[in-house]
Amino acid sequence: MSKKHLGVNTICAHIGEIKDEQFKGAVSPIYMSTSYAFEDVAVKRYPRYFNTPNQEFVSKKIAALEHAETGMIFGSGMAAISTVFLAFLKAGDHIVVQNTLYGGTSNFIREEFPKYGIEFTFTKGYAVSDFEAAIQSNTKLIHIETPSNPLMTVTDIKAVAQLAQSKSIKTTIDNTFASPINQIPIDLGIDIVIHSATKYLGGHSDILAGAVACTEKDRETIWNVAKNLGGSLSDFMVWMLERSLKTLKLRVKKQNKNALKMARFLSAHNAVKKVYYPGLRTHPQYDLAKAQMKGFGGMLSFELHDNYDASKFQKALQLIKPSMSLAGVESTMLSPYLTSHALLTQEQRDALGISNGLIRFSVGIESVKDLKADIEQALSALH
Ligand SMILES: *Cc1c(COP(=O)(O)O)cnc(C)c1O
Repeated sequence: MSKKHLGVNTICAHIGEIKDEQFKGAVSPIYMSTSYAFEDVAVKRYPRYFNTPNQEFVSKKIAALEHAETGMIFGSGMAAISTVFLAFLKAGDHIVVQNTLYGGTSNFIREEFPKYGIEFTFTKGYAVSDFEAAIQSNTKLIHIETPSNPLMTVTDIKAVAQLAQSKSIKTTIDNTFASPINQIPIDLGIDIVIHSATKYLGGHSDILAGAVACTEKDRETIWNVAKNLGGSLSDFMVWMLERSLKTLKLRVKKQNKNALKMARFLSAHNAVKKVYYPGLRTHPQYDLAKAQMKGFGGMLSFELHDNYDASKFQKALQLIKPSMSLAGVESTMLSPYLTSHALLTQEQRDALGISNGLIRFSVGIESVKDLKADIEQALSALH
């Protein structure tokens, strides 16, 4: 059977399985060894070399899902992001990064890059012209994130990739929010895809992990730094990730469907001022999202009218959990102004369009009628 033409659900269920030759078990065995026989190979197996059997095989599943030559698993999304950046940037180099980035990524850049002498520019906006304007003669990397947190802005992946290629600049994308079910950046010209596997790839709010998908050549560059930084994942958690990935498409498809229904429900609700979801025709980049995404994802944000207290509303919810993380099978909500963006001043938040009434909603796999009923009862409890 040709593996090239396997369907996504088949990839999820089967690619990267380790055959249990000893007992013929149905699932991959877990190899917990930190010590492997000395073989006649260039690199011996060792967990920090990212090449234990479980690490090696689950990487094949990530690579197949992202249409990449190869992949790599990390101890966290930030381990993957920091390692990739440090693999391609040295003192005197410059990186262009999107202004609306995951907070941990922008903290890493602002706090650590000055120590390494790496220059950086945050774009003014997320239009291609904003990226072009930020490029310098020493720019080596452009990093984007789409859809972005928390306002679900959409960056034109293909246009940014073409801009970068025309100037021989490498591109990286944080594909966490979309997942490979909804967006395949490598097909649009991006070089390196990065994930916080803590989110959709894990999907059950119980794994902290990161993943990278790229060419063999780029993997070698990343690996040379990764083995020094040591951000690998334990094989038990790698196995947990493999288990979770088997249902990735089932989960994400359902989350896409639920999020679209919830976005429409909230848009029509008289307690709601605004909804941010790339799958709504009212989203300013709906056409772009439709062109580059296969589904619009499970993440949305909305603003309640000023006479509703967003924090009290979330406390009144009974089914939907207040939560710092996202992408689990269970629906969660958070207030960016109280959590992810709490350290910014009111003016900085205003500049980013993050009001105190803004709520980020990670839509799970529950029955939509129950999610709607929970929101209704919480709203009426406030008034
Ligand atoms: C959570 C997250 C990260 C960081 O991942 P960790 O697994 O927490 O290290 C990076 N990017 C995005 C978009 C995220 O949501």
